[in-house]
Amino acid sequence: MSDNLREPLPPGSTIGIMGGGQLGRMIALAGAQLGYHAVTFCESDEEPATHVCKHSVIAPYEDKSAQEKFISLVDVITFEFENVPADIAAYLDANALVRPSPEILKIAQDRILEKSFLNDIGIETAPWEPITDLTYTSKIVEKTGAKSIFKTARFGYDGKGQEKIGNKEELDAAWLAAGSVPAIVEGFVDFQCEISVIIARDTEGNTKCFDVVENIHSNHILDRTIAPARVESQIAQAATAVAVKIASALSLVGLIAVEMFVTKDKRIIVNEIAPRPHNSGHWTIDACITSQFEQLVRVVCGLPLGSTKRHSNALMQNLIGEDAERWHEVTANNENKLHLYGKKTVRSGRKMGHVTRLLPLSPDWQNQDIDLAMSIMRPRT
Ligand code: AMP
Repeated sequence: MSDNLREPLPPGSTIGIMGGGQLGRMIALAGAQLGYHAVTFCESDEEPATHVCKHSVIAPYEDKSAQEKFISLVDVITFEFENVPADIAAYLDANALVRPSPEILKIAQDRILEKSFLNDIGIETAPWEPITDLTYTSKIVEKTGAKSIFKTARFGYDGKGQEKIGNKEELDAAWLAAGSVPAIVEGFVDFQCEISVIIARDTEGNTKCFDVVENIHSNHILDRTIAPARVESQIAQAATAVAVKIASALSLVGLIAVEMFVTKDKRIIVNEIAPRPHNSGHWTIDACITSQFEQLVRVVCGLPLGSTKRHSNALMQNLIGEDAERWHEVTANNENKLHLYGKKTVRSGRKMGHVTRLLPLSPDWQNQDIDLAMSIMRPRT
């Protein structure tokens, strides 16, 4: 449906959320605070968003009658994961107001489209090449370097579908093992740090960014976010400008997270984009006037963007797998803000919750003992 609705959806309206994970749960909670209802469409009644939504449509995403029921229950639809199949997103878009546009999902779902889009608008990525056939792979490794990463073009998150490769033989093996699906190889970036920027853009083209944050990964999964990032102000400004450029080039109506590397020679290289709330923005719930989830609700319902002002510095620690079973130790420290997603089954690598710790705004943030502060947030065996 063309996005020409300029009147805000009044409180009491219903936001449809494609997906039932923790991001959907936190969108629904933020919407409830502003008086909106939420309906999730997901595949299991155990998913975290179902616990807090007014209705849940539980069915395989391809189920046409479930899609129709979902459309009939909601006033606007948004996504909490980007891998919604393109035909389903297109059907929803033809029959309901969908924000952000499924065209943006399509780009974010596919590393080949994503990196082509970024390079076309003049944004630097790691050197990369699509893989089309095995005769060509030796040339690819020449271009991306002896330290390269194989990534499937689609369905890769938290390091899934990725492998380090050093030569043509390893690349051929990785591609064959992945089933010869569309894939890319990209050069390994020897980064100083990883950062991200979350930006919202409304129907009028106004934008607001949250502060640039620093992300520390463990086993390819986000482990910690440090807000703000401990980078020079020129880097933070340049990263913010990159996010604005991307959101504008996409004509985004919604929220997008831009993950970037800062190289040792101070270049900014974009790794990927996610047109939805992002794990590296969870700290905004506790440390900003408007959280990333409320900001998305505001955009999709046509309200003015909220202030993204950070009133405190913040550290966010993900609770992965069995970490969450030790919630008692986390809450025993009364400065920890615990967020659990209500997932029944603990699995290794599964995001079960997070903890935020607020710290005073500080001109000396670079020199604070972040490791010490974070060590008390996450119970470790
Ligand atoms: P991705 O699934 O592309 O977000 O990758 C997950 C994580 O793997 C990133 O946050 C980085 O820590 C690491 N990574 C991915 N691509 C590269 C790269 N080209 N160079 C260095 N590290 C990378």
